Amino acid sequence: MPSPDRRPHRQPGSSRWPAQPADQATVRRNNLSLVLRHLHDLGPRSRASIAAETGLNKATVSSLVAELVERGLVREVGAERAGSVGRPALILELDGAGLGALGLEVNVDYLAALATDLAGRVLYERRLPYDAIRNGPAAALDALARLAGEALATVTAQGAVPAGVTVAVPGLVDVARGVVTFAPNLRWHGVWIADHLRAALGHPAYPLTVDNDANLSALAEYRVGSDAGTADLVYLTGEVGVGGGVIVDGRLLRGAEGFSGEVGHMPLDPRGPECGCGSRGCWETLVGMTALLRLAADPTDRAVHGAGLDPEERLAEVLRRAEAGDARTLQALDTIGGLLGFGASILVNLFNPRVIVLGGYFARVGRYILDAATAELHQRAIAPNAGGCRVCLSTLGFSAAVRGGAALAAEAVLSDPTIVPRRAPAEPRPAATGGG
Ligand SMILES: [Zn+2]
Repeated sequence: MPSPDRRPHRQPGSSRWPAQPADQATVRRNNLSLVLRHLHDLGPRSRASIAAETGLNKATVSSLVAELVERGLVREVGAERAGSVGRPALILELDGAGLGALGLEVNVDYLAALATDLAGRVLYERRLPYDAIRNGPAAALDALARLAGEALATVTAQGAVPAGVTVAVPGLVDVARGVVTFAPNLRWHGVWIADHLRAALGHPAYPLTVDNDANLSALAEYRVGSDAGTADLVYLTGEVGVGGGVIVDGRLLRGAEGFSGEVGHMPLDPRGPECGCGSRGCWETLVGMTALLRLAADPTDRAVHGAGLDPEERLAEVLRRAEAGDARTLQALDTIGGLLGFGASILVNLFNPRVIVLGGYFARVGRYILDAATAELHQRAIAPNAGGCRVCLSTLGFSAAVRGGAALAAEAVLSDPTIVPRRAPAEPRPAATGGG
């Protein structure tokens, strides 16, 4: 039975508990958030259960629930027989069908969008091939704004009000200002993403934030991945670059200035290949997709290195050869796996995660690298049995970052339910489709 001080109230991506003395309105807002999060994290339950589990008194819970119902965030879904006698208790659940949270992503060769309602039901999803380097930041952000406009129109047509937008970018992000400080693989420096998109979307009232793609993917794994709810989790994504997101004790680790998780630039070989960041021998130069392609095929091998191919096509060729048992390809994948485990052992020594989730291309080639990665990890990590760490493959595919973006946008409502307006009492509910 969960106790009032159990973990799920501390959410990755959410702001810290207020430290200053709280006035009445602040206390009310925090308690609304407490009850809403309780239903979000632990599922449907009665008012009495919420009171018992949160430590709030029953009258307070009833008043808070009434307000959350007015704001369309909670609904009653029937009764349960609690015991042998007495009135059956009404069960409450998170509603939120009237709210849309949007995750956007700009990456080296695609743009993506995914919107959910507050309960996580997907309302919109799209991924477009896009050459972000050749088009440059301004054109890329205009294209992203057009995709956002289409997503938001679809959300609105389903009866939901946009509650927030998060943009995922593969690089260092100044989250407070919504600026990409440096994105080596996009070749972007100091791009004011939030300002640009706010203007393009007509200065909306809902929050629009920018965050690192791997951080958001880690959040998605924590929320909806195969190991959802694992409080100590490291997410690694392999693309051209290698990114990471670290969840420690149920919170996304951000660091002093928000730049933590740049595991791809751990300098593992000072005399190694040149990296997009300007340094040498970063982990991503050893295990990123470019390293795999270099190991798997000579530069003259056009089926892998041909000029007009996109990364998907190159990877598909490598996978085809692996499936056919090609010795050089299998050796290349085994080498990548070993180097992946080598770097992962540093993360295990630092964070002692329960699970390392591999995303991006690592997940695609997972069955060819997992054994070597796990063996190297166990050999290198200082703790017995790698501190109980498992290595597993992400099931979220390319949607991990936008999924996490939508989850972070929804966080704003969970942290402060009063940003959603109360409905007029006589007003019928918007036509939320589906449900359940
Ligand atoms: Zn680097």
